[in-house]
Amino acid sequence: MKATQIPIQLARRVIELPSSSTLAVTARVRELKAEGKNVIGFGAGEPDFDTPAPIGEAAIDALRAGQTHYMPVPGDPQARQVIAGKLQRENGIDCTGDDIVITVGGKHAMYLALQALVDPGDEVIVPTPAWVSYVPMVQLCGGAAVQVPAAVENDFRITADQLAAALTPRTKAMLFNSPSNPCGTMYSPEEIRALADVVAAHDRVVLISDEIYEKIIYGGIEHLSPGSLDALAGRVVTLNGMSKAFAMTGWRIGYACAPIPEPGGGAVARAIAKLQGQMTSHITSFTYAAIIEALSHRADDVETMRKTFAQRAELMYNAVSAMPGIVCPRPTGAFYVFPDVSAHFGRRTPGGRTVDSCVAFAQALLDEALVAVVPGDGFGECGRAHVRLSFACGNEDIEEGCRRMREWIEKLD
Ligand code: GLU
Repeated sequence: MKATQIPIQLARRVIELPSSSTLAVTARVRELKAEGKNVIGFGAGEPDFDTPAPIGEAAIDALRAGQTHYMPVPGDPQARQVIAGKLQRENGIDCTGDDIVITVGGKHAMYLALQALVDPGDEVIVPTPAWVSYVPMVQLCGGAAVQVPAAVENDFRITADQLAAALTPRTKAMLFNSPSNPCGTMYSPEEIRALADVVAAHDRVVLISDEIYEKIIYGGIEHLSPGSLDALAGRVVTLNGMSKAFAMTGWRIGYACAPIPEPGGGAVARAIAKLQGQMTSHITSFTYAAIIEALSHRADDVETMRKTFAQRAELMYNAVSAMPGIVCPRPTGAFYVFPDVSAHFGRRTPGGRTVDSCVAFAQALLDEALVAVVPGDGFGECGRAHVRLSFACGNEDIEEGCRRMREWIEKLD
């Protein structure tokens, strides 16, 4: 028997791992467009803008100058210093370059932070709906994700009482994300302080704050970094990256800031760097120059994109709210809406299918109206009644996609 005929038994951890539904929808839209289909993609969670040219030029200059060799595992010291300066200045976080690890996207910063903190059996609080990779990452670490569902009527914000009820002696960390993917809503500074006080009462718990959408806000709510709060001093890992604010998704640049002293020596940042040293070493050497250029000089570009997202948010919210049977909180940050579409569950589509779930809704909408949305079930158990629409696309796509979706819903039987 040839070796190739022997079936390979994959590791249980990967068999049990769900695929990323956000990336799957994005890939499907790409395929359909390549086949010539006139599909409107509300799936992709990435800015449709190009990276501002000077950021690319900074990397090209570094490449030409020969910055193509290995560099320190936590990242170029100058870039880490610039990130620390940004976090001090803009976020009020007391940190230095030594507390920063630059990672392969914000996604890997999250995974490394969890790997650094979570032992098998530890519980991690995940307010849901939450981005599709949070729960799988906790599970890959052997942790138990404790989902705390946020009510749609409360703009998807959990309360301090809900958090207090979910914390146990086994809780090791809490994941926090404001502005939220997929909800498009934010917590107010007062709400964040109230949650922080609850966490502070449990001195074993670390708050992991994913702030990747901090620059895309437009609803009048101020962004507050939990890492700036005295109540949580030394207990917050702040995650961010270049992808969303600077339209740099494909560059894969994120970072973790972890000014956390640990008993027995060794800070969390050093633990994250130790893991990175065994996994990816560091990001692509010549891209550190792009971080420095973006964070030091490109605030105007960020503001231009923010204003465009603000205007699209209004367009998308008005169009979705006008669809029959849809409940949709008004977005205040990020570039998503996450409407409840369950009023249509059980109905028949124009193509003769039964919409019995968010997955069936999204699939039939794609097949019959050529509009791609992400089914809500991947964002947590309480997301099953929802679908996610990204408005990181042009006004014409928003108008046309929402027109198709409304007409398709109106034909449901
Ligand atoms: N964060 C984006 C999204 O939710 C990018 C895709 C991903 O990595 O999940 O669509």
